[in-house]
Amino acid sequence: MKNKVARSLLSVFLVLGILFTTTSRIKAQDKLEVKTTFYPVYFLAQQIAGDLANVSMLLDANQDPHNYEISASDVADVQKADLFIYQDDEMEFFVQDLLGVVNPETTYVLEATADLSLLAGAAEDEDDHDHDHDHSHAYDPHTWLDPSFYAQQAENVLNAFVSLDEANAEVYQQNYQALIDELNALNEEYKAALENRSDRRFVVQHAAFGYIAHAYDLEQVSIAGLSTSQEPSAKEIATMQDFVIKNNVEIIYVDPSSNSAIAETVAQANNAELRPLRTLESVSSDELAQGVDYFDVMRDNLIELSR
Ligand SMILES: [Zn+2]
Repeated sequence: MKNKVARSLLSVFLVLGILFTTTSRIKAQDKLEVKTTFYPVYFLAQQIAGDLANVSMLLDANQDPHNYEISASDVADVQKADLFIYQDDEMEFFVQDLLGVVNPETTYVLEATADLSLLAGAAEDEDDHDHDHDHSHAYDPHTWLDPSFYAQQAENVLNAFVSLDEANAEVYQQNYQALIDELNALNEEYKAALENRSDRRFVVQHAAFGYIAHAYDLEQVSIAGLSTSQEPSAKEIATMQDFVIKNNVEIIYVDPSSNSAIAETVAQANNAELRPLRTLESVSSDELAQGVDYFDVMRDNLIELSR
């Protein structure tokens, strides 16, 4: 009899124990865990999720998404996430290594550019067989720099959140709409400011701004290629020096987080000024803490492009 009581008490504790663990697990999962690769996809996820998810980035601010290599802890982080968002198969090449070890049953994987019609990659790729780059650049993956393309990506991100967490669909939808409204406003600002730019060409170090050129009828002339790993040859640098002299180029744009040595060499040929134009491939943790976001950087870029 005593034994029986003890045994039932034990099973009550066991049941309570299981209940307790289950409840605490549900509590811990209240918020979706969302892992993103780098800033442009991080910002989309964060804006659309609002308070409903913990959104974080795999890459630190000083890491280059074109050339990043995954670590064991990245694998664990992504495996733990409910949702993993990356930009594009031609942007973060390291994602291919991750996808093989992520269980699609537990982690929803979203390529943010899915179903978008991307611009073709740079034609300059054709004659640089002497470069050691093993990636194809059939398409230009830097879509986020055009607010209209970025808005299409936002819809993909919205759909992912809604399918994972239908109960909060209305909140995601509202957050999404607020983001779209601001992207539309930004697009109008770009149109108005760049419409009357007399020189339709702008010279950059890294060819990340093709979508801005495409959207606002400008022409991007780049010293290096679509990927930051493509270094120009001596011959290409000399060609660029001729170009800046012949066209009296007065400004060369460089992202402040990248090495500007080559751009400086080209600029010196015509005493051109190096000015900042940010790819948004990295936003520092200081800036994040200060609340600097996509819109701030895009508006800074617009001031630079309006010079
Ligand atoms: Zn890039």
